[in-house]
Amino acid sequence: MAGLDEKSRALAEVAEEVARCKKCRLWSSRTNPVPGHGDQDSDVVFVGEAPGYNEDLEGKPFVGAAGKFLDLLLGLAGLRRSEVFITNVLKCRPPGNRDPLPDEVEACGPYLDRQLSIIRPKLVVCLGRHSASYVLSRGGVRVRSRSGGTSISAVRGQVFKARFNDLVFLVMPTYHPAAGLYNPKLKSTLMEDFISIGRVLRGIREGSIPI
Ligand code: URA
Ligand code: SF4
Repeated sequence: MAGLDEKSRALAEVAEEVARCKKCRLWSSRTNPVPGHGDQDSDVVFVGEAPGYNEDLEGKPFVGAAGKFLDLLLGLAGLRRSEVFITNVLKCRPPGNRDPLPDEVEACGPYLDRQLSIIRPKLVVCLGRHSASYVLSRGGVRVRSRSGGTSISAVRGQVFKARFNDLVFLVMPTYHPAAGLYNPKLKSTLMEDFISIGRVLRGIREGSIPI
């Protein structure tokens, strides 16, 4: 396993490459790249969709309204932000916060793959459909849906086992925190999901939930 210094060096290298990256159109409209932030030794990584307005200004993930709600949700799981690693599928803000385009996900996804390979979490929590779709398919999990895409309401709250390269980890998809800001029903589902994320994480740490 990579040593501490090796890990921070490897993550810093990903962040530097992201800062120079022009692999998709989004580099030209960004203010700052948002590679991700948090504890490189965390056993849980949270993956959102893409930076929004505030994240683009600050260069850090989930610093706006959705981020405030995420802090509350993390508390329900028994976690503080400083002890987890948070990133997104896309590292640059799509203009007007539009959905990621497939070629952007294809171009940017390898940065997330590398971050996961460096951090080696036991659990990855996907925030929203785009994150769930990318991480589950990258992890070899086939979820059937009539539309062909990942239906977040069909997979949320479930625990999947993902494998890529020599990595094995559990995946728990849930709704994007922003969805809970304007929909009370999704808000309570998100709160329930984070309580069960905390339970699963404790099970992993205590060894009662095998990976
Ligand atoms: N929404 C996301 O998906 N990611 C962020 O970092 C902020 C808002
Ligand atoms: Fe590169 Fe990703 Fe930014 Fe596109 S979104 S320019 S692939 S870092």
